[in-house]
Amino acid sequence: MSRTTQRRVEQSATTRQPQHDVIVVGGGFSGIGIAIKLQQAGYDRFVVLEDGDGVGGTWHWNRYPGVAVDIPSFSYQYSFEQRPTWSRSYAPGAELKAYAEHCVDEYGVRDRFRLNTRVESAVFDEQAGIWLLTTSAGEELTCRFLVNAAGVLTQPKHPDIDGIEDFAGPIVHTARWDDSIDLAGKRVAVIGTGASGVQVIPEIAPIVDSLVVFQRTPIWCLPKPDVALPGPLQWALGRVPGVKASVRGASQAFVELAFPLSAHYHRPLHVANAAERVARGYLRHQVKDQDVRVKLTPSYAVGCKRPSFHNSYLATFNRPNVTLETEPIQSVEGNGIRTVEGTVHEFDVLICATGFKVFEAGNLPSYSVVGRDGVDLDDWWAEHRYQAYEGVSIPGFPNYFTMFGPYGYVGSSYFALVETSIRHILRCLGEADRRSATVVEVTREANDRYFASQLRRRPRQIFFSSSCEGSNSYYFNQHGDTGFRAGTTLEAIWRSATFKVDSYRFEQVPE
Ligand code: NAP
Repeated sequence: MSRTTQRRVEQSATTRQPQHDVIVVGGGFSGIGIAIKLQQAGYDRFVVLEDGDGVGGTWHWNRYPGVAVDIPSFSYQYSFEQRPTWSRSYAPGAELKAYAEHCVDEYGVRDRFRLNTRVESAVFDEQAGIWLLTTSAGEELTCRFLVNAAGVLTQPKHPDIDGIEDFAGPIVHTARWDDSIDLAGKRVAVIGTGASGVQVIPEIAPIVDSLVVFQRTPIWCLPKPDVALPGPLQWALGRVPGVKASVRGASQAFVELAFPLSAHYHRPLHVANAAERVARGYLRHQVKDQDVRVKLTPSYAVGCKRPSFHNSYLATFNRPNVTLETEPIQSVEGNGIRTVEGTVHEFDVLICATGFKVFEAGNLPSYSVVGRDGVDLDDWWAEHRYQAYEGVSIPGFPNYFTMFGPYGYVGSSYFALVETSIRHILRCLGEADRRSATVVEVTREANDRYFASQLRRRPRQIFFSSSCEGSNSYYFNQHGDTGFRAGTTLEAIWRSATFKVDSYRFEQVPE
């Protein structure tokens, strides 16, 4: 702990009363969800701090051409605010951003959000049982409970390629799109073929002069049942009893089978094999050139890393103005990229669809968190491995809860995770209230039990099978730990509602 931080902690210990009961960091769907639920539960001393200049998180920041959700919209929304008027079965990004804006207004929480406020550090004051936050503007804020809703895939990862800083033209990352860049008639290069690349590539190919796609690891691409939702269906979803619930139920069942169940029970269910047959057939049908097809075929099983769903990505490689380059990149030179074989591709604009920082230090979360005895959360995880009780709380970090923690996310709709995490956190806060406790901390035993159970159960997941070698997945850190929970959505919901509150210690700091 720095001397300045130490001094601030000593000062806050003298005040004992925090400015806020709860501070939430992050104004995406996690932060909006918990703000709504805190308000409904009667908390009135809370604030949400958001780095960006608008709410919506991912859907505020990601505005690249073609951005859209890849989970059906009937599931990719709060259970308590189901929108009947999605224009498509998979909503475009702008509609999700509008939905975020709608939710903060509909539930009256907009004035809880402080935008353009980046948290740099959070330090727990043990004497006072208070978190002390410092923002990049140098402001200091205190709270009793701190909820991290800052997300995981938020900080763009820029490729570390020799000479890239000297590239002659504009470079844009998909997650920080620059609307002023005009791609029409330009020679463009895209690095990366993950979910973002899959969406941006087919969208820009028809308008650019030429497009070179640099692929390091191919991605499985499946057809997307993405259809426009006609007015009468929207009307029925909004008005006819039972329609919304039936469509939601069908959508939830599809998502559960496609993601968590097929990952967790891949051996008995054989979903990965069936999905691979569909994906191979789709590739054969979509791409004319056999060499290109071979290059686009992954060597790992479907599900080892998130597959993509798109109806025109693969066919884009039939276009005469599109080249798929699979030779590794050696360097960027002037206005081109040189591959290790010596081929030079020249272009005017470079698009990096290179994803996000995940397990890099300083990303989980994106501000420093210092708990008991001055221990930094990054250091704690490096020493003890990436773990948290139910993916929500960590021993030694009292009054701190995270919405997307280690072994927390079953892999279905992100909203399912948001709602289970909120339920868990609100149960802790409610119990603290009942016991007049000012410090809530998960016990080491409960945490260890949860971690051990996850390690015991995870080998059944497809990620840990030998068929995933070569997938180059961002899901795992250096110890092989992950954010994925070994379990199903129903189990996660049930556990968030029934975990023993005695898994936590509830204490009172002396007044
Ligand atoms: P990503 O899945 O991490 O993909 C990044 C791509 O860039 C990969 O193909 C990667 O290759 C490549 N890459 C990175 N650094 C490179 C380098 N130095 N040289 C060459 N290639 C490089 O990132 P993403 O596409 O942004 O997607 C991340 C996640 O965000 C997705 O898995 C999904 O969960 C979410 N997402 C969802 C949607 C949606 O809902 N529609 C849209 C976008 C993103 P390797 O595979 O070899 O590392």
